[in-house]
Amino acid sequence: MLFGVEKFICKACNKPALVKFISFGKMPIANAFLTKETLEKGEFYYNLDVGFCEECKMVQLIEMPPYSKYIVPDDAGKTHYAFFSSTSKFMEKHFAEMAKEAEEKFLDENSQVLDIGSNDGILLKAFKNNKTLGIEPSDNVADVARTQGVETISKFFTEELAGKILAEKGNFKVIFSTNVLLSIIEIGSCMKGIERLLANKGVFITEDPYIPEILEKVSYDQIYDAHVWYFSLTSLSNLFERYGLEVFDAEKQWVHGGSMRVYACRKGDYPKTDRLKKYLQEEKEKDIDTIQPYLELSKKVEQSRIELKALLRKLKDEGKKIVGYAAASKGTIVQNYCDIGRETLEYISDSTPFKQGRFSPGKHIPIVSPEHFHEDNADYALLSAWNHAEEIMQKESEFLKRGGRFIVHYPTPRILEPESTNKPSNNPNSEDFPGVEIKKLNVIANGQGYLFEVVRNDDNLFSGKFGQTLVSELYPGTIKGLHKHSKQTDYTTCIKGNIKYVLVDDSQEPAKIKVLTIGEKNSILVKTPPGYWHGYMPLANEKATVLHLMDRTYNPKKPDTERKDAFAFGDVWTVRPS
Ligand SMILES: [Zn+2]
Repeated sequence: MLFGVEKFICKACNKPALVKFISFGKMPIANAFLTKETLEKGEFYYNLDVGFCEECKMVQLIEMPPYSKYIVPDDAGKTHYAFFSSTSKFMEKHFAEMAKEAEEKFLDENSQVLDIGSNDGILLKAFKNNKTLGIEPSDNVADVARTQGVETISKFFTEELAGKILAEKGNFKVIFSTNVLLSIIEIGSCMKGIERLLANKGVFITEDPYIPEILEKVSYDQIYDAHVWYFSLTSLSNLFERYGLEVFDAEKQWVHGGSMRVYACRKGDYPKTDRLKKYLQEEKEKDIDTIQPYLELSKKVEQSRIELKALLRKLKDEGKKIVGYAAASKGTIVQNYCDIGRETLEYISDSTPFKQGRFSPGKHIPIVSPEHFHEDNADYALLSAWNHAEEIMQKESEFLKRGGRFIVHYPTPRILEPESTNKPSNNPNSEDFPGVEIKKLNVIANGQGYLFEVVRNDDNLFSGKFGQTLVSELYPGTIKGLHKHSKQTDYTTCIKGNIKYVLVDDSQEPAKIKVLTIGEKNSILVKTPPGYWHGYMPLANEKATVLHLMDRTYNPKKPDTERKDAFAFGDVWTVRPS
């Protein structure tokens, strides 16, 4: 208990119960990259302090900078937002699946769909059979949505706007907000608006970064101006309850470095799912409803700063040339909090033309094009988009080949060695194959023998849903697959021998292929969600024993398995010398 500590007013429940647990000091707006002209004018700074409400358990910025500081209209009065969702193929697939799920579970032909913060219409355009409406305050992004036929209102969503929409359009069966609720300062007004607009048995589906993930990864750079709330299921449940809603389901998502999709309805409309109960239990075990884990985060963040500065200083002392990679909001936080300026990072390489020629907020590090970076001879690049590390390592193979190395600051600052980072066991999430997750299995051996755990109910990758397990033995020369499930998730490991495990994503042209080795040489468990073709083959002319866990029981009358020739995507099987 923290007695005698200053308490602030919680902006979620309005009680004076908000306790500061971390301070990053004075911070500029994370995404306000400066031109030569604005450089001289001086920047807006605020105190980036984060608090925990002892009443409603909500984590929030203590000083919330007004929207006008980071959403700036141009000369014509139009507001601009630089990130277009549809430019990301991963996100497009993610949203298409989200729409499909809502159609199957909640919608009938007469129901309407609303998306708060609809961006360029990436989610709504996936609905073919229902009337949709988007709310997107950034004019330039809303314009793009309209040209694609997605009806969009360019306003902030408030209770007042909800009243107008209700009068004109009626109710909505499903209301979405993805990566938006965390930015809405007037969250009470927003919740009232949602409650008013929900149809009978309507569902509000929101997806935002999940604070337990930030605690686990020490990814403090997800904390900045435009993110004013950091949700747990505990705090969201408390928030919704005050507005007559309740959470009835939740599902972890891979996007934005670890998010939670949350399903809410009017009290009692839908039964609470087992997986929600499991997540809530996990939060209890992690003391998410106390300030303790946040105080621990504060200590880890401080330690991370000390270690990153020491690492960079050591490299500088050795005469190494260090640059920044990706001019992102995350980088602004790390540079300013850790006091890393031009004396350390010569420049930042970024592929966005808009940012090139500008300067980073606070530290004024010049931003250059990737061409400049590629022609340069930097020794190290500090990576700010750590959630895309795997993708970037593949893209920058030339830099790595000539001895260049990336530095990451999370969860502990370190130099990424390509040998280790290319190993699948170090990539818990495959961003190029959304939903595919890998768990490293630790073999514990002694004189008596050895053992390794395979799946635990508290594993992050395990959904908690159990269908059946089975063991299969494969003789050399056999190929199992390819097959695909529409509903079933597989968890696969090889407990004797080794297999080549092939995953294919043919949702776009050309199909993408991922190959993993699983077995005694690489003890991992692979989670394969529905929708991917997969198959396997024993390696090294030896038998292989494969252990499967499925989240559904096999129904011989209606098997959830589609089959394809093992060579349908070419020869993915022949082992070639590397
Ligand atoms: Zn509160």
